[in-house]
Amino acid sequence: MTDVLIVGAGPTGLVLACDLARRGAAVRVVDRSPAPPRTSRAKGPNPRSLEILDDLGVAEEVLAAGSDPLPMLKYRDRRPVAEADPWADSAPSPDARYGRGWLIAQWRLEGILRDRLAGYGVRVEPGREVVGLAQGRDGGDGGHVDVTYADGPAGRARYVVGCDGAHSSVRKLLGITFEGTTAEDQVMVCGDVDLADGALDRTRWHQWFDEDGAVMLCPIPGTRTGWWFQAGPERDGRGRPLAPTADGFRRLLAHHTALPGRALTRAELLSTYRVNVRMADRFRAGRVLLAGDAAHVHAIAGGLGMNTGIQDAFNLGWKLGLVLAGHADAELLDTYEEERLPVAARTLDLTSERLRATLEAIRRPGGGLDAAITPDTTGLGVGYRWSSLAAGGPAPGAEQPGPRAGDRAPDAPCADAATGERTRLHRVFAGPRTTVLGFGPGSAAVLRETADAYGGDADVRVCRVYAAHEDHAGAEPGAVVDDAGHAAAAYGTGASGDTGAGTVVVVRPDHHVGVLAPADDARSVREYLRRLHGTGRSAERSPGMVDAVR
Ligand SMILES: Cc1cc2nc3c(=O)[nH]c(=O)nc-3n(C[C@H](O)[C@H](O)[C@H](O)COP(=O)(O)OP(=O)(O)OC[C@H]3O[C@@H](n4cnc5c(N)ncnc54)[C@H](O)[C@@H]3O)c2cc1C
Repeated sequence: MTDVLIVGAGPTGLVLACDLARRGAAVRVVDRSPAPPRTSRAKGPNPRSLEILDDLGVAEEVLAAGSDPLPMLKYRDRRPVAEADPWADSAPSPDARYGRGWLIAQWRLEGILRDRLAGYGVRVEPGREVVGLAQGRDGGDGGHVDVTYADGPAGRARYVVGCDGAHSSVRKLLGITFEGTTAEDQVMVCGDVDLADGALDRTRWHQWFDEDGAVMLCPIPGTRTGWWFQAGPERDGRGRPLAPTADGFRRLLAHHTALPGRALTRAELLSTYRVNVRMADRFRAGRVLLAGDAAHVHAIAGGLGMNTGIQDAFNLGWKLGLVLAGHADAELLDTYEEERLPVAARTLDLTSERLRATLEAIRRPGGGLDAAITPDTTGLGVGYRWSSLAAGGPAPGAEQPGPRAGDRAPDAPCADAATGERTRLHRVFAGPRTTVLGFGPGSAAVLRETADAYGGDADVRVCRVYAAHEDHAGAEPGAVVDDAGHAAAAYGTGASGDTGAGTVVVVRPDHHVGVLAPADDARSVREYLRRLHGTGRSAERSPGMVDAVR
């Protein structure tokens, strides 16, 4: 039987599928579209999504296929009046390798993820529209969900995840409401267009904002003459927005910019975008879960739609993986909604606030889309301190540097203790597993206990982080040397190596801190790992899943 049926092969479904497939789960991905969708949408991953793509092994390809985000050139009355690079100060830092996002068309990123998935032997099944779902109710859970398609034989899966976008059939079939608003007056027309060679400087994102409208043109990386076109729509005599057409785009170009309309040689993937701010009140019903736009939609200001979906998928993948493997109880899946629903709510607020700031900024000459970008839009600050999976660590408000349980686990450059080769903590975390970091000699015992319990289990790895002055001759396999002190600084464990005390950090497979505790607190580590991975080698693991319908 299929372990997980993923409905929808957008970025959310593809990231989830890659994460599950690499864990060996039997995954199917179906999409109602007969061919890979190629819509004019997101402009690329933010820094946190890049970390996730790195973990999935596709970051290099994404970087090669895209470009650095571009400075914005802003015009008024057809003349350039200001330039801004909202990413100018966003350099990589020791604790975050990606200081800024990356410019790449959503369809191109999806292509890279589809190829990655194919590498695991999983191919998206096109032209398969889910029209029915049936799962047991009131304790009558048969351990599966029956799925009906518009065409072809029905299917069965242990879990179904609706990654089927804003108009999600899965959400509707579950009867989950999608509360919020659609702003009929905030409308934009979009498309991928070609401009005559040399018509515009391709090192800038051009933005014309006038009293009566706007046109934005951003070069599409990997193309010679392709541009993302976004504009306020033309309107009819009664002020109603007109549908986008190539000729309409040419008129908008001629009206707002110094380019002649004929400079636009081709336009495709035309669509009208309305600001929708809505979210589901539940992300799970029994064996069916929702992720990405199916669970939440919001203004595109700040570029967080696709990114939030990618980050949903990365939160859910490892939890489904551990439940399917029989290591964790199905209650672990409850923590998906517990963690991601508040993040979605916050994202709705943040993007609405960024949209207001942008609309305000563009009323003045020189204002532009840079008003939408803040440190919040990097995604690096998203954490789950409130989660029942955030255990131990200093009391809230306690004065101590470093992350709290629930926070994103910082990266840090360091050296492999055995080979001296450069590596990073995020490279240590990469792959579908939990990592136990030990700082200071005092962490040796808890690392040994963990290795003894889970040593044969590829799901849990231990990593001793040696301070530069510690003797690491004969270090355990996988140990690293914090030669520049970045790891100690990032985790607030500065004194561990000096005093012989130590700190132990359990890092979840999605790079969030689960436990941060003194190294002699082996019990916290033991209990945490038991919740996620059972009791290790000695565990009497159930052959199948212990599961229950909520
Ligand atoms: C103009 C525009 C600009 C944007 N810019 C950005 C940006 O800069 N940054 C950003 O992060 N986000 C941006 N977004 C938002 C981003 O495109 C979406 O958030 C993202 O596509 C959501 O991904 P998803 O995988 O959740 O859903 P989708 O990409 O919508 O994929 C859903 C898939 O499900 C399939 N499907 C639907 N129903 C069924 C069914 N019943 N059975 C089977 N398959 C089904 C569909 O065919 C589709 O392929 C933008 C959006 C627009 C419109």
